[in-house]
Amino acid sequence: MSKVVIVTGGGRGIGAATAKLLASSGYQVCVNYRANAESANATVSAITASGGKAFSFQADVSNESDVIALFDATEAMFGAVTHLVNNAGILLPQSGFAGIDVERFNKVLISNVTSCFLCSREFIKRTKSQGAIVNVSSAAARTGAPFEYIDYAASKGAMDSLTKGLSLEVAAQGIRVNAVRPGFIYTEMHADGGEPNRIDRLSSQIPLQRGGTADEVANAIVWLLSDEASYVTGSFIDLAGGK
Ligand code: NAP
Repeated sequence: MSKVVIVTGGGRGIGAATAKLLASSGYQVCVNYRANAESANATVSAITASGGKAFSFQADVSNESDVIALFDATEAMFGAVTHLVNNAGILLPQSGFAGIDVERFNKVLISNVTSCFLCSREFIKRTKSQGAIVNVSSAAARTGAPFEYIDYAASKGAMDSLTKGLSLEVAAQGIRVNAVRPGFIYTEMHADGGEPNRIDRLSSQIPLQRGGTADEVANAIVWLLSDEASYVTGSFIDLAGGK
């Protein structure tokens, strides 16, 4: 069976590493992006230069009609979507809880959770047989991220609940739903949080004494999607150096 995957936010960071590894594992890949066409196209070029199959598609995955267009375009390009990585997410500048206004809170929830809900629902509606979803949650779902971004942590906690519930609803259909919970991964996201060097500041507090790489997260995502994880569903892999 041909394997067709959508990686949301696949142009940069963890999503790009995942898209490349999936392509080298034989998947045909839709590299979704919201605004940064340059990085999405660079990811596609890297894949095709290595003999893989990929295309980029702009869609705001927190928007329902964009998500439908994303799935339509991927089906038209490669056929039925068999796998999904809900990776797209945002982090806003560090703030204490009282400093988070309602617009910001709603923006983070919509960007990180509604997006996962919309893409997962579209996948479930269209996938008639075997398939797999991996949600990219965060260690923040466990820590709560006090004094930094409780809004972000709450969005990832909701993603974990969605992962668990959906995994149980669709297990009998042969669809597996799992999540990874990274932490301290070197990507551009920490600059969005207002502290580009956050990982280096915290590395001495991480049991493995260093930050992680996007490739290390991609390895876990690709394994969870693969047949090697055929008896794994509703599960979480923590990738935070022991934190
Ligand atoms: P990143 O480098 O900032 O990349 C984020 C990606 O998400 C970008 O490709 C961005 O698209 C895309 N995106 C954001 N909102 C979107 C939307 N509404 N529609 C479509 N695409 C959207 O971040 P990253 O560190 O790789 O993070 C990827 C995932 O890992 C996120 O869910 C994040 O919460 C999670 N995570 C990261 C860490 C870490 O330490 N880095 C830790 C835990 C969890 P554009 O390129 O078009 O802007």
